[in-house]
Amino acid sequence: MEILHDYSLDEIKNLIEELGEKPFRAGQIFRGIHAGKKISDISDISKELRAKLLQRFCDCPVEIIGSKTSKIDGTVKFLFKLWDNNVIEGVLMKYKYGNTQCVSTQVGCRMGCAFCASGIGGLVRNLTAGEILGQITAVNAYLGGNVEKRQVTNVVLMGSGEPLDNYENVVKFIRNLSLKGGLNVSPRNVSLSTCGLVAQMKKLADENLDVNLTVSLHNPFDEKRKNLMPIAKKYSVQEILDACNHYFNKTKRRYIFEYSLVKGENDTKECAEELIRLLKGKPCHVNLIRLNEVKEKDLKATSDKDAYRFLGLLERGGLSATVRRQIGVDIDGACGQLRRNYLETGSLGDKNS
Ligand code: SAH
Repeated sequence: MEILHDYSLDEIKNLIEELGEKPFRAGQIFRGIHAGKKISDISDISKELRAKLLQRFCDCPVEIIGSKTSKIDGTVKFLFKLWDNNVIEGVLMKYKYGNTQCVSTQVGCRMGCAFCASGIGGLVRNLTAGEILGQITAVNAYLGGNVEKRQVTNVVLMGSGEPLDNYENVVKFIRNLSLKGGLNVSPRNVSLSTCGLVAQMKKLADENLDVNLTVSLHNPFDEKRKNLMPIAKKYSVQEILDACNHYFNKTKRRYIFEYSLVKGENDTKECAEELIRLLKGKPCHVNLIRLNEVKEKDLKATSDKDAYRFLGLLERGGLSATVRRQIGVDIDGACGQLRRNYLETGSLGDKNS
């Protein structure tokens, strides 16, 4: 089965021509898909055309099968079923300026970071561009939105998966998401987070996409970074910094480093000093996250007090940094926690049901 959400507007135009239909039908189909409708529910095209499309395309590639709302901050965690019965999770965060959706780019992940639950069990498969988009069209419709009135205004690629390990599909997704006539979310409102796949970071810089780049650093020392992130065996911190520099030169967009504080691992004075040495004067921001402890992993979070102490060291050293507000912790929707409940129980868990 093919996925119609994978198609750009131009590709749907070609398809419509092949099927011998009037060109304006393409816009109706594209708008219907982006509004979160199943093919069988796009009522402004004929029953015959819907039937033709359904011979080739699945009716609904991504369906919401569960949701759970945080009592603390209103963050919503979603469970999605893909057309082939694989299951992924995603999160919607509500901010004053709009709603940000965190989407998955792969079922599982093969990066094997020591602190992250998403990679337990390894990579199952890549998501297609349409399956990434389908998470957003589904949530937008669930919130009562459509293409004219969007309920999802910002997107972060920080769910399960390593976006740059699924490069072509992710870039296609960002382009399709921004098309007029569809959801029309600008790449400037999209943040892509990578564990530091240097070759793909450089390629991304040359795409002419104004997407925000976020890099998971977690340790400034190569040898120690390897303990947390196997990808550090392939690329050094210096190579990552060079790729970030290239990204900035091409896009003029400030980049962000994610730094999850793990007690005794990366929250020391030496780490702060090395970060300052490496990053001072660079057009970047450091986002400190307190580790979300994951049961299967034997790592402990830095205390709040020590997190703010670490922040103070960075700020006094001249870096722009913040400690990120923790969100969705009571629904296991925080960073690195996705997929965990489903793996355990086959559902979203019963923490606040
Ligand atoms: N593969 C991408 C996106 C992953 S998730 C990447 O590596 O950037 C987004 C962020 O959550 C990453 O910075 C990741 O390192 C971080 N993260 C993963 N597990 C975490 C945990 N248990 N606690 C805190 N942050 C975590």
